[in-house]
Amino acid sequence: MLRAVDEDAGATAEPAMEPAMATLDDARQEKARRFARQRQALMLVNLGISAVVIAVLLFSGLSFWLRDALQFAAGWQPIPGWEPLRIALYFIVLGAVVAIIDAPLTWYSGYVLPHRYGLSTQRVGAWLLDGAKSLAISLPIEILAVLFVYLLLAVSPNAWWLWTGLAMLLFTVVLANLAPILLLPLFYKLTPLPDGDVKQRALALAAQAHTRVRGIYSMNMSAKTTAANAAVMGLGNTRRIVIGDTLLNHYTPDEIEVVVAHELGHQVHRDIPKLIIVQSVTMLGGLYLVNLALHAVVGAFPAYQGLSDPATMPLVAAVLGIFGLVVLPLTNGFSRVVERQADGYALESTGKVAAFISAMTRLANQNLAELSPSPLVEFFLYNHPSIGNRLAFARTYAEKRGKAR
Ligand SMILES: [Zn+2]
Repeated sequence: MLRAVDEDAGATAEPAMEPAMATLDDARQEKARRFARQRQALMLVNLGISAVVIAVLLFSGLSFWLRDALQFAAGWQPIPGWEPLRIALYFIVLGAVVAIIDAPLTWYSGYVLPHRYGLSTQRVGAWLLDGAKSLAISLPIEILAVLFVYLLLAVSPNAWWLWTGLAMLLFTVVLANLAPILLLPLFYKLTPLPDGDVKQRALALAAQAHTRVRGIYSMNMSAKTTAANAAVMGLGNTRRIVIGDTLLNHYTPDEIEVVVAHELGHQVHRDIPKLIIVQSVTMLGGLYLVNLALHAVVGAFPAYQGLSDPATMPLVAAVLGIFGLVVLPLTNGFSRVVERQADGYALESTGKVAAFISAMTRLANQNLAELSPSPLVEFFLYNHPSIGNRLAFARTYAEKRGKAR
């Protein structure tokens, strides 16, 4: 089992790491494997449902039927070829149908499973409230985005994808900047790290990194989960490191220090801007493929009334969905490289290999993270190296450093 470590147990005063070193819990690893298998099965079911829904919409004529049923909303065309009311209604009706079809799976994978494995601490009311909040934020943004794209399709049928890509880049940058101060506080309470040992260590690491940290925050993850995590967030003036209280409360100061060093590594390497660029370029590729598909299909099937016909939405979803699956291993692979570099930075800047290994082991136990998933699963789905690989990396690092001396 996880050995609880008291914050004030004085681990800093003890010279040796041994008493606090976490050891891998075999029973929890067995549980982690079961949990992973179930989540992967659910993911495949979800993917299958999405594929069937889109195929039905594309090939049954249902998409045209819905468009025609919304004819009453087609009158208002502020710009010729752009029917904002019909487009919005089409999107909302379709979105609602998909949400209803997905509801049992959403409930099972989002609420039932994490509770069964003891990972969620949320009651059903709080869980539903979080879902309602997410919907209230994302739905208006999604509707505006769809209206904007269909406006571009109407006025700029050949360059719409380029404008859409640029607009998305701009939106991503603004969102990355605002998310930690505007969105995150809607779901979590963030408090600046209190003065003390951990903060002193973090400040020393930041000084060593020559990076201007705009703040290190503790986040009350324990209100929702038993899992531990930390992250860098924000862009420009909102750049910050956020550490879950689930981590702060159960890890030794040395372990917290290597985690903070890892997150600082992301800041030093400018990983958030890098990820935004990779995402945007990838998205542009996807949008270009949608453009090709739209022109080909709309040209070949007269039932489509043009590129800006709302009935093209399932086609857009199909192309983006398939494209997303194909590039998923690439973007995940890029993320794994970036995470490995941050691990390297953490080891290099602290020199605390034992604490790193202990922290990773503790994470595997606590978060039910599979130590060694199948390489195929890791290749497709993991945006961090598996913990087994991170441990191996740390051991190799220690060996190399030993030889260098
Ligand atoms: Zn990371």
